[in-house]
Amino acid sequence: MVVVGAGIAGVACAGELVRAGIPVQIRERGRVAGGRMASKRFDGRPADTGAAYLTADDPDFVQVVERWRTAGLVHEWTDTFVAYDADGRREVTGPTRWAAPRGLRSLVEELARELPVSVDRLVVTVEPGPAVDGRRCAAVALCMPGPQAALLLDPALARATRAAQEQRWSPSLSAVLRFPSRRWPDFRGAFVNDHPVLALVCDDGDRRGDSAPVLVAHTTPEFAAGHLPQPTAAGPAIEEAVRDLLGLPEPAELVHVHRWTYAKPAPSGGDGTYHLEADGVGLAGDAFGKPRVQSAWRSGRDLGRALAQRLLAERG
Ligand SMILES: Cc1cc2nc3c(=O)[nH]c(=O)nc-3n(C[C@H](O)[C@H](O)[C@H](O)COP(=O)(O)OP(=O)(O)OC[C@H]3O[C@@H](n4cnc5c(N)ncnc54)[C@H](O)[C@@H]3O)c2cc1C
Repeated sequence: MVVVGAGIAGVACAGELVRAGIPVQIRERGRVAGGRMASKRFDGRPADTGAAYLTADDPDFVQVVERWRTAGLVHEWTDTFVAYDADGRREVTGPTRWAAPRGLRSLVEELARELPVSVDRLVVTVEPGPAVDGRRCAAVALCMPGPQAALLLDPALARATRAAQEQRWSPSLSAVLRFPSRRWPDFRGAFVNDHPVLALVCDDGDRRGDSAPVLVAHTTPEFAAGHLPQPTAAGPAIEEAVRDLLGLPEPAELVHVHRWTYAKPAPSGGDGTYHLEADGVGLAGDAFGKPRVQSAWRSGRDLGRALAQRLLAERG
């Protein structure tokens, strides 16, 4: 059985299969597991360049988060952000947001610790059989954004291809900005509404707990769409927009700009948490729910359970 993608959906899916005693291989095209729960080290310090935080209200996911908390991998960050819009700045209270001192990727790594993940392993084709890159397997779970899955799927797998292609996704750019000092007004994270460049700005030193003068800014889909071929070239405009928003006189060092071509799915209308065909080809990810870490985890977990049930029944 092959799981393609070592984001949180893929490792949650593989974890269920392994628990059911089914041999699994996870293939990940990147150098590390994590997917969009991405943390990169800059001068030895991790910054979150994908998901900004996580929230949990599904009782099963709450248990996972509690386990991470006990292991010191996550802490409660905040329930209060600020929102900037045409009327100015106001505080907004929402669910508890959890942050990871070592970066959100460390959470996927923890779930993958006992799982066989092959990194630097790009999967190119999934054909009827099912077969992955020409080799038959019992089943295959594609745990990634639908447009990425659609690239792999042989058109003969028509229903899975359609399900993958039906997903609607928007892009984003994330910029890591290091300032000479922490001069911004007190905030943890800021939703930025109706802005030509910015959608969210987070205080990475605050969420990480080391008070480093680092902000991570996420752009609007529209701004990102205009800069996908050369994301780094968009860096100065993002830096200027952040300084202008927060009234910061000192320029920041533009440490990194990350391009997310498929950042967020439009929430699915359906109630299923995954897609699974009779031919053993499944799809999972946050497109089967709200665009959140929790949805991706639940989707992968549920697909893993469904596949385990089916494969165990086939074994008799
Ligand atoms: C900028 C940004 C901000 C976000 N903010 C938040 C937030 O604040 N809170 C929240 O809850 N969620 C947030 N999210 C969403 C959250 O990151 C996702 O819901 C979650 O990480 C998705 O996990 P996944 O496993 O479904 O997909 P992914 O994490 O995308 O994993 C898919 C994996 O498949 C691999 N892959 C793809 N194609 C192949 C191939 N051909 N062969 C092998 N491997 C392949 C990829 O490399 C990747 O590792 C954000 C996302 C982005 C991008």
